[in-house]
Amino acid sequence: MPVQAGTLNITQPTTAPIGKSISWFQESQPLDMAAALQKYRHGLFKTSSHELLNFGIGSDPIWLAIEVKNDTEAPLLRRLSLKNSWLDKIQVYFLAHNRLIKEFQTGDIFPFRQRPIPDRYFDFDYPFPPGKTLVLIRAETVEPMILPVFLTSPEQDYQTDLLEGYSYGLLYGGLALLAAYNFLLFLSLKSARYFYYSAYLTAFLLLNITYTGHGYRWLWPNSPQWQFSSHFIFNLLFPFTGLLFALLFLDIKLAFPRLYQWVIWISTGCLSTIAGIIIVAHNYPLAISLILMFTQAYCIGMILLGVLSLRAGERAARFFLLGTVTHIVTSMFSILTVEALIPYSILGHRSAEIGLTIDALLLAFALADQFRTLNHQKMEALELAMLDPLTSMNNRRAFYWQTRPIWNNCIRKKRAMSLVMIDIDHFKRINDVFGHSYGDVVLKKVAQILMKEARTSDVAARWGGEEFVLFMGETSLPEAFSFAERIREKASNIRLTDGNKSLFFSVSIGVASVDYNVSDLDELIATADKSLYLAKKNGRNQVCTTQEATFELA
Ligand code: GH3
Ligand code: MG
Ligand code: MG
Repeated sequence: MPVQAGTLNITQPTTAPIGKSISWFQESQPLDMAAALQKYRHGLFKTSSHELLNFGIGSDPIWLAIEVKNDTEAPLLRRLSLKNSWLDKIQVYFLAHNRLIKEFQTGDIFPFRQRPIPDRYFDFDYPFPPGKTLVLIRAETVEPMILPVFLTSPEQDYQTDLLEGYSYGLLYGGLALLAAYNFLLFLSLKSARYFYYSAYLTAFLLLNITYTGHGYRWLWPNSPQWQFSSHFIFNLLFPFTGLLFALLFLDIKLAFPRLYQWVIWISTGCLSTIAGIIIVAHNYPLAISLILMFTQAYCIGMILLGVLSLRAGERAARFFLLGTVTHIVTSMFSILTVEALIPYSILGHRSAEIGLTIDALLLAFALADQFRTLNHQKMEALELAMLDPLTSMNNRRAFYWQTRPIWNNCIRKKRAMSLVMIDIDHFKRINDVFGHSYGDVVLKKVAQILMKEARTSDVAARWGGEEFVLFMGETSLPEAFSFAERIREKASNIRLTDGNKSLFFSVSIGVASVDYNVSDLDELIATADKSLYLAKKNGRNQVCTTQEATFELA
């Protein structure tokens, strides 16, 4: 008894795949239509229990038979669609009463213009006459033999295509924009991670354009050779750029240098092997199987890298992992749909694209987050570079940085400005007698006095060794002088103890103000330094100025 699928009634067109109404036969040697028909009549075709037929990679050519019934009195125009863009060669025969009525031959080994209907998939319109029609299809490909067959009306197919066209427009537009934007970021920020992210997005875009058939339809319709090669090239490019991006994004080279080397060696090895199999051995099914294995290993590798880097404390790895897992889970849905292990739905079929879009957005967000963290760290480093580590006071660089604007403002407004320079007396001796770390305590003490006494608008800094400066805007020489006197007194009143030894120390202070002799900040500092020298020369523990004392001491 022939085990054949039931007859398909096409009076009401449906948008669902018709796999369960199809019988199939796998060629072991080439058959012509008559021979295939004979096999069909002898019941050698098998029924499919799935809505989508899938014969895997490296399949021999497949014959499909569909018995179609038109219950109406008039012919019904229907569209037969094979929604797989990479079938190499397809022959379709429409038979009524054992007579061949119409036949088509197409496939992507032929230029695009040869297709009966210009679509990225393979479409055939046929006016089914009343009664029964037998449709025989022969499909041949070195790539995965996935055969989603649909039989619907041209109008319905047009609606589906239109909707899909919009959604692909959105997907490609979004990805292209994101890729271009990140490339611009790379140009302006000179950070390679933006370049690799952009390359990764571009590789996915190209891969998707290729395997959905949009590339052949719109970009290279006259080049069957490129249509064939592009599948291999972009299928390899996508995981490879993804890997390079992940390595850079997760800072693997820095955190795990040996792992980094291994990953580079292994993936380069895999790539060269696959390229060799394609270019030298021309064993395409083997190459595709290896590419799929490489892609699976890549997915697992991405998760491992993400986990490793998360454990090493890389914040951005959280987004990366979330994106990767989303991408992998949604790809599983697509694979399960194509393998017909879950019921067919457009959402299931295209969930990998949705997953990658989510992944791309999460990664864009993670890149922004990384940028923010990096900036924050830079600011912190800058702050640290401005501080003296012992006293937490400004260092010289910070002093200049903070003083400049006040200086300029006072010059503009013709206001007085003063500077005091403080030096601890016989500090060397303190170090010698009490030890260096005790000397540090004295330095901190002086810094504390200075910071406590200074106004918020003053700029205090450790000038170096046991020297400190204080810049005072809008302050005259007498005002600065009495301030210095106060500091000197406070310092001389401090008594430090160390065991049974006790210590007094004093400071000498030089004061200087802006006058007709002093026209820039460095001159003001030099004048204060001269004043300080005078204080030392006159016996230490005193405040001096070399400038004309046209004021009464307080
Ligand atoms: P004078 O009264 O003439 O200023 O004599 P002095 O001993 O204070 O000055 P001198 O410049 O001869 O010595 C300064 C000493 O300060 C020498 C150096 O070892 C010490 N010193 C510099 N920086 C630090 C520091 O950060 N901590 C400690 N404990 N000592 C320091
Ligand atoms: Mg000193
Ligand atoms: Mg000194």
